[in-house]
Amino acid sequence: MARLVVVSNRVPVPSAKGGTAAAGGLAVALEAALKSRGGLWFGWSGKTSGDREIEWLEIRDHGNVTYAVADLNRRDVDEYYTGFANRALWPLCHYRLDLTDFSRKDMAGYFRVNRSFARLLAPLLRPDDLIWVHDYHLIPLAAELRHMGVKNRIGFFHHIPWPPADVLSTLPVHDTIMRGLAAYDLVGFQTDYDVENFAGCMIREGFGKSLGHGWFESYGHKFQVGNFAIGIDTQTFVAMAEEGMKNSIVKRTCDSLRNCDLVIGVDRLDYSKGIGQRIEAFSRFCEMSPSAKGQVTFLQITPKSRSEVPEYAQMQRDIAELTGRVNGSLGDVDWTPIRYVNKTLGRGALAGLYRIAKAGLVTPLRDGMNLVAKEYVAAQDPTDPGVLVLSRFAGAAREMDGALIVNPYDVEATANAIGRAISMPVEARRERYNSMMPKLLEHDVAAWCRDFLDVLSANEEFEPEAG
Ligand code: UDP
Repeated sequence: MARLVVVSNRVPVPSAKGGTAAAGGLAVALEAALKSRGGLWFGWSGKTSGDREIEWLEIRDHGNVTYAVADLNRRDVDEYYTGFANRALWPLCHYRLDLTDFSRKDMAGYFRVNRSFARLLAPLLRPDDLIWVHDYHLIPLAAELRHMGVKNRIGFFHHIPWPPADVLSTLPVHDTIMRGLAAYDLVGFQTDYDVENFAGCMIREGFGKSLGHGWFESYGHKFQVGNFAIGIDTQTFVAMAEEGMKNSIVKRTCDSLRNCDLVIGVDRLDYSKGIGQRIEAFSRFCEMSPSAKGQVTFLQITPKSRSEVPEYAQMQRDIAELTGRVNGSLGDVDWTPIRYVNKTLGRGALAGLYRIAKAGLVTPLRDGMNLVAKEYVAAQDPTDPGVLVLSRFAGAAREMDGALIVNPYDVEATANAIGRAISMPVEARRERYNSMMPKLLEHDVAAWCRDFLDVLSANEEFEPEAG
């Protein structure tokens, strides 16, 4: 079996003592795939080192997996990561042209860092390595490696949404971005919508043509495009949730709730997550349902994120103010309607909190998949499950038909869905849960990894249909 090379913006390097750094489901799955084949994980260390150009790697072996990471200098971080990746590509891919900042300087930094990564990675590659590149930070990497003569099979997975042609084409370098993707052998997206949008960009903008069956030809290169919805480590989440009540955070939460029903939201503080609209919807629900007063509490866990980006800093202020306003106007001396927590919780605590929550609110304005939606359902007690309220604009909505699907821009309808979720009879809740759980178990993150790597390693040539 070919060695696997994973490339991602951040690399969870295990500590020198051997402890694993891979906390999230994706990192665990990738680490497992690397271990089973032997592998190399390459990317940014997450560290910023003064003004030094990227020219060296820290390489550490752990069993049969090698971790190779580079520090970036301040300018690289500002231009490649904060600038182009997070202030241009992220908002653009989330359909937020109003927040997209097209700075030429940042664009140049993005392509420069990708070239530097390719220069550092190329000498570490063996001829039959299978290379799997992750996410929007690294779109040009394959093209850079090809320039250096790398002939390996290279796959790319885009974790966030892919926008329609009219949105993408506002980006001044969108042709270079499309050309970058066409240099891969396999490009994976989260949903059929993203695949359709990508095909639309290719064809309508005249970058290439569809050859059918997921094959495209662009700039003289034939490559495959596919829909590979990412999963979670479902069994682990079920087990963690079953043990959830042993977690001190979960216990403390239960004690503090007394007999209040819990509604939960868990999101990084990001404008794509619709947190403001969700708070408005919860507030509307409380106004519409006098019986909710003192009886329902909404816990919103929101670790701060990307505070160096001005739009995020502004959002932190806006959400804090909104929460304060709602609590001030609806709350009472013995009831705080919204508990807003800017902390990162461990997965064990989250699993337990999901399980005790009667409703999970996952209402992003746009999201590639949204793993929290899947985790919430996996964590439920099968005999007395809670209800997922899910935005139609999350990739997860394409699979999770047992959720109450809402339009998060429609505050009134989301408020109604919260009321419906909380008062739903247990039989209906079980039916919804049972309609989603088998898929979550079957299409877990390990299956996602296998499916993508099977197609990438099949090394198929495009063959036109006979006749
Ligand atoms: N998460 C966590 N602790 C927290 C908040 C979130 O471990 O305090 C995890 C959560 O369990 C999920 C991930 O972060 O696995 C978020 O993934 P998602 O796809 O929902 O959103 P993203 O942050 O990738 O946009």
